Amino acid sequence: MEQYLLEVQGLTLSLSSPQKPTKIFEDISFHLDAGQALILLGESGSGKTLLTRSLTRLFPAVHSFRISGEIMYRGRQVLELTEEELRILRQREIRYIFQEPIRALNPTSRIGEQMSLAAEEKEQTAWEEALRCAGIPDPASVLRLFPHQLSMGMAQRVMLSMALLANPSLLIADEPTSSVDRALRRQILKLLQDIQKSSGMAMIVVTHDLDVARAMGDRVLVMLGGRIVEAGQVEELLRAPLHPYARQLTGAEPATSPVGLFASRTGDIAADGPPGCFFAPRCPKVRELCWTSVPESVNAGNGREVRCFFWK
Ligand code: SF4
Repeated sequence: MEQYLLEVQGLTLSLSSPQKPTKIFEDISFHLDAGQALILLGESGSGKTLLTRSLTRLFPAVHSFRISGEIMYRGRQVLELTEEELRILRQREIRYIFQEPIRALNPTSRIGEQMSLAAEEKEQTAWEEALRCAGIPDPASVLRLFPHQLSMGMAQRVMLSMALLANPSLLIADEPTSSVDRALRRQILKLLQDIQKSSGMAMIVVTHDLDVARAMGDRVLVMLGGRIVEAGQVEELLRAPLHPYARQLTGAEPATSPVGLFASRTGDIAADGPPGCFFAPRCPKVRELCWTSVPESVNAGNGREVRCFFWK
């Protein structure tokens, strides 16, 4: 049987609460090969960020979560790893860059000190090389700075260089360009593409931006309400989306409400709610069945999958 770098099967995440567990996402399945780039596309509240965090069980400490399903990474079942094994996985194999890089850095220590923690046994020359590789021309001076002295673009490059120090096999970039201007966005995307090409690492990019998806992805998963509603090759899916939500998101059809404002009916809690298809209240193709039953994901041919009763 073919072994992928990452294979996720039937993954479901709930927020534990004494009254009733609340689902955040449900029945997520996908795989990723080495060197591939996967895009998670969808609105705020669709479960994208917590899905990526679930891959190494990196959950916010303030909540307690219940997770089920399978996450196989290089043949190992992530849900069975110990805390120490997970720490090593995050340190050496799967690295993250977050959407607000300055908040992800420790405000009280200089960049050099933070690089030394990220680098494990590596020498300062390796830190400087990583900073140069992330497009910082004068790394020695940046190592002496505190995070508040960095611009947003510089902070994102520092985060990227810390992630790259470990030569990870998978980089997860959560809205990597949402806090920078257009010109800087192009530079960061180009940098990520170049690094991915030269290193052969896989990437998962979380975004709601179609240009980022086009620039970075091989395959795209469109998420809505804690479920994957459509999956396919980026170019093909964005050119001819099948799911009504994906059609509105990509502009193939006018949105019945501002798509950018379309969020979970329960705030951050994506997958719970009234029965039926999550998109029913906004869907131009809605029929009676949609209000009572949740559609299964079906094979739409040519590697496409779609979760809609009436996609044809
Ligand atoms: S299942 Fe029904 S409501 Fe949901 S996207 Fe398809 S047509 Fe629209």
